[in-house]
Amino acid sequence: MSNNYKVDKDGFFGQFGGAYVPEILHKCVTDLQEAYLPIIESKEFQDEYHQLLKDYVGRPSPLYYAKRMSEKYGCQLYLKREDLNHTGAHKINNTIGQILMAKKMGKTRIIAETGAGQHGVATATVCALMNMKCEIFMGKTDVERQHTNVERMRMLGAEVHPVTTGNMTLSDACSEAIRDWCCHPQDTFYIVGSTMGPHPYPDIVAKMQSVISKELKWQLNEKIGRDYPDYLIACVGGGSNAAGTIYHYIDDERVRIFLAEAGGHGIDTDYTAATMHCGTEGIIHGARTLVMQTDDGQIKEAFTISAGLDYPGIGPMHADLAKKGRTKVLAINDDEAIYAGYELTRMEGIIPAIESAHAVAALKKISFKPDDVVVLTVSGRGDKDVQTYLSHKDMAGEYGDF
Ligand SMILES: *Cc1c(COP(=O)(O)O)cnc(C)c1O
Repeated sequence: MSNNYKVDKDGFFGQFGGAYVPEILHKCVTDLQEAYLPIIESKEFQDEYHQLLKDYVGRPSPLYYAKRMSEKYGCQLYLKREDLNHTGAHKINNTIGQILMAKKMGKTRIIAETGAGQHGVATATVCALMNMKCEIFMGKTDVERQHTNVERMRMLGAEVHPVTTGNMTLSDACSEAIRDWCCHPQDTFYIVGSTMGPHPYPDIVAKMQSVISKELKWQLNEKIGRDYPDYLIACVGGGSNAAGTIYHYIDDERVRIFLAEAGGHGIDTDYTAATMHCGTEGIIHGARTLVMQTDDGQIKEAFTISAGLDYPGIGPMHADLAKKGRTKVLAINDDEAIYAGYELTRMEGIIPAIESAHAVAALKKISFKPDDVVVLTVSGRGDKDVQTYLSHKDMAGEYGDF
């Protein structure tokens, strides 16, 4: 499995990445930088990780040929079904890996940030599984609007801390988790939820999610007799499901990559989360990357209908790949995502997470040839978003008439 595209020894992907952390975390971060590759590459870790992915998460996730949608878009569309994982999204691939890593490093307390609550639930789940103490930081606004996920976390035994600084959303929850980590550097492992944060987190999370493209290789071989598609499509918030989807294909120029970020009301408005369209270079949560910020460097609030894509930064590898032209990034607005969510629901019987619906909406913006094999990752299921879909059915076009 050739993969020449790698993070460098200082944690950079091109000009993006690095580890910009306060002095007090320096040792924590360098300990992790030294420990992570030997742990991930050990047979003991690999055996345990893959056993859990199989028996607990339910992997491999199916690769499903979507016949009706293929006809509609004039291509051969396959859906990578991360929505069928335990807890309903790809996030558990990463939390399983990081909790095993925490145990191997002798840590006894887990912290995590969460926006919509999906990463919080995935973290609380593996903490219950491994009998670890778990504390989750979540913006107070999100605690209120994502109440069922808060209740799931509490039921799983996690303590949820509502964060009341800033806009009280994901970005503030990240800052608060980093602050907590500074106070407990000895016993605490911070499980980061996406390909963001200081080095080595973007690389750790990408490696944990790379199981997605590893499976795609043999699944495509089985289905179409070759191990690569013509197109890969995924949505990007921080970039973890996208990183997993493309990981083993980054060097393969036969594969075109389209990523969908959240346009919100539109990239020419103030209500957007399209960081790769609207961001400028800066530092956020320990990494140099593209950030939505004002001229004097204040981080702007991200806006999108999708709580899971609501982040004013982007993983450094995605900033780099987009800058190099390896990936093409499309901004998908709220109404386009809602329409696409209804479309997949009515045409294939799959209610996607509103985040994943952004990837589905990208199909309309690409012109395919009938033989093109397209793999689109459905990052999560839409049970959590039913209310959002219903209250916006005016955006669902012909599907909203019920
Ligand atoms: C969290 C989430 C995302 C966005 O996170 P990435 O790290 O960009 O993958 C996308 N889809 C779902 C279902 C999520 O829960």
